[in-house]
This record gives sequence, C-alpha cells and structure tokens, in this order.
Amino acid sequence: MNLEIVTIGDELLLGFTIDTNAAQLARELAALGVRIVRRTTCGDDAESIRQAVSDALGRTGAVITTGGLGPTADDMTKPAIAAIFGKGMRLDTGILTALRERWRKRFGHDLPVSNEQQAMVPEGCTILPNRHGSAPGIWLEDAQGRWVIMLPGVPREMRGMLADTVVPTLRDRLPVGGPVIRSRTLRTANIAESALADRLGELARGVNGLSLAYLPGADGVDLRLTSWDRDARATAAALDEAAALVRSKVSRYVYGENDDDLAAIMLAECAARNATVAVAESCTGGMLGMRLTAVPGSSRTVLGGTIAYANAVKARELGVPAALIDEQGAVSEPVARAMATGVRLRFGSTIGLGITGIAGPDGGTPEKPVGTVWVAVDLDGDVHAVRAVLPGDRHEIRWRAAQLALDRLRKAFLREQQSEGWTARG
Ligand code: AMP
Ligand code: MG
Repeated sequence: MNLEIVTIGDELLLGFTIDTNAAQLARELAALGVRIVRRTTCGDDAESIRQAVSDALGRTGAVITTGGLGPTADDMTKPAIAAIFGKGMRLDTGILTALRERWRKRFGHDLPVSNEQQAMVPEGCTILPNRHGSAPGIWLEDAQGRWVIMLPGVPREMRGMLADTVVPTLRDRLPVGGPVIRSRTLRTANIAESALADRLGELARGVNGLSLAYLPGADGVDLRLTSWDRDARATAAALDEAAALVRSKVSRYVYGENDDDLAAIMLAECAARNATVAVAESCTGGMLGMRLTAVPGSSRTVLGGTIAYANAVKARELGVPAALIDEQGAVSEPVARAMATGVRLRFGSTIGLGITGIAGPDGGTPEKPVGTVWVAVDLDGDVHAVRAVLPGDRHEIRWRAAQLALDRLRKAFLREQQSEGWTARG
C-alpha cells in the first residue's frame, strides 16, 4: 500500500517544531508494509490544507495527516478535508459529552466554549477515540475507497492513537501475507564508512537483495539492512541471514543492533565480569559518567569519577605527576594513562577510564589540532591508550571522545577474551 503523509502547522514551516510525527509514522507503518511515498508539510490555513491533502489523495488515495485538530482558530484540518469529500460538519453529541466530562474530572470546571469546536466532525466520518488527549482522530473515506486519517499534532497523542487504532485498522486492510518493509541495524564504532565498505567487499552494495545503508553519526556508522518486498516470515529470515553475513566481515567493529547504547552494553559486560568502573574526564567534563549513569542499574557497576579539567586537579585528585603534564602536555598518552590508573586506584575500581583532549573551537596547534583526544583504559593494571583526531564541533568531539573510551573498553575485553581463549587452548 502506498501512502502519503501531510503534517500541518505553521510551527513546522517556521522550523520551531521538528516534524517528528512524520518520522514516527514512516517508521511504524513501514513495518506493516505501508510504503510512504511522499511527505508534505503545510501551514495552518484551510486552502493550503485542502490543496496538500487533495493532491496527495489524487496520487495514492491514502493519506494520514497530523495537526490542526485542536480547539483554536488555527485548527482548520477537519473542515478543510471535509470539503474535499464534499461533506459538511456536524456536532457530535457523544464527543461533546465526553469532552464535558473530561473537563469536569480533570480541571474541575465547565468546558470552555472554544473547546466545543472539537466536537464538530465531518458528516459520514468514523471517529477514532483518543485515550491520550481531548481531540479525537477522524477517518474519512469516499465511495471509491480513498481515505484520510486525521491525527492530533501532539506527538504523544499521535503515537498513542497510532498504536491503539491506526496500526490495527491498517493491518486488517492489508492483504494477509503481503510484503512488509523491515530494517535491522548493525551499530559500529571507530571505523569509517569507506573502511567498512572495503571490508564488506561484495556485500557493500546490498546483501541477498536487501539494501544496505551507511549512516554515519557521532556514535559511529550504523549499517542498516532493509528488506522491501518479502512477506513477514521471509523478511525475518532474510534479515537474520544478511545480518550474519555482514557481521562475518566486520564483527570486530559491531557493538550492537538497532537502538543499542554502547554505554549500556559495556555496563552489562562489566557486570558479567563482576568488574567496577571509575572515570577520569577532562575534555568530556562528565559526559562519560552521564552516559554510564543514565543506564538503569548502573549503581552496581559505576563507582564514580572525577572531572579533572584543570591540570592542578589532574595532579591533586588523580595523582598525575605535574612534571609529566609540563613535559608532555595535558593532552598526551602518558597523562591519559596516568588519569585512568589514578582514578582506578583512588576509587578502588577494577577498571579506570581516562579521557583528555582538545574539544575546541580554540586551543588547537599543528601537532595537536582541535579534536585530538587521548583515551586510556586501565583494566586491572593492564593499560591501553589510543589517540584519535575526532571530527565535528565541540559537542560532537566530546560525544565522540566518550564513545571512543567505551569502545576502547570493548576492545580491551575482546583482547582479554582472545588471550584467555589462546591460553585455554594452548
Ligand atoms: P496541533 O494539534 O496542531 O494543535 O499541535 C499541537 C502541538 O503538537 C504543536 O504545538 C506542536 O508542538 C506539536 N506538533 C504538531 N505537529 C507536529 C509534528 N508534525 N511533529 C512534532 N510535533 C508536532
Ligand atoms: Mg497546530
């Protein structure tokens, strides 16, 4: 099924609100086998809405809109779309009663007159109940089977109604065993997309008819496999097989799948080893600690950390020799190592992570340009350090530095595993 999305709101055109509704709809509907072929955004005036929805209907016969169902004068969606279907508006007493009750219960007073407008619906429509807010959704369909679903703009309400009514209804309408569109993402860190493509060789442009997208971001490059035209069962099998093939070429760099967070994965790995962690952060200023402690249950593993921003703090709180900082500079391998070991010893943890770098925009030199970062992992006395020159603005460099530290810990665990395997065998 082909479908178009029309998101409605001046705030979207002005850029004050990011159109998360369209993205959410596209993601959820693809999994059902609904193909979003075009997205349009229009302002809050009846003529723009009428034109955008009528054009979209002309192309696909299936449209979902969000926004403009509220109680104020800029909420024009229902009458504008009713006009396309040649329908007038009527007062729905069921909605009016529900609105009045909701107001009395929640706010303890009568429904404001302006909200009565929310009880006006197009003639001949189906009302889609909204458990998450006051404006119900509307389904309008004509004799040729062309339809429009109108959903509220508030993202939480939109998502709720999508799950409650839209997805089940569309699922009933789609042919059983029809094609679905599903994706699976392998998340990689610390490797460029070109290097991934080289390692993937023949798989680089797609695997068994599945498309392969390279999505670089501050976490690393995500590899997203998408199956477009198989039924649900064949899709699951094809994604499994393709993911295994891709992993076989680049497994060293893959830390997780889909929405996996490297911080959460590393905490789970630490917990499995009964290891505890402490962090020593300079340029990241606590970002690594923030990411680790954002994970539920982290208190079992994370002991704490030091934001050692000033050199004097690196010396006093972490025991980094002042002479080392003078001779090598604060952004250097020996300082990163001394930070990791210092924090491990002072906090009494199994693992110490140290980060020192130049986040910019100032402070770079030809030898140490902005983005230069040293990261060290002290795994119970076994210390590994790595240097990187990270791209991006200040925020991105800091984020990438924290991600690099987590990935180095992952590598240290891998190395440990491999050497144990070797010992056990040999
Ligand atoms: P409305 O239903 O048009 O009154 O929208 C209510 C609120 O929902 C707006 O103030 C926006 O903050 C939000 N909103 C509307 N449309 C979108 C959208 N496409 N994506 C994300 N938020 C939206
Ligand atoms: Mg609006």
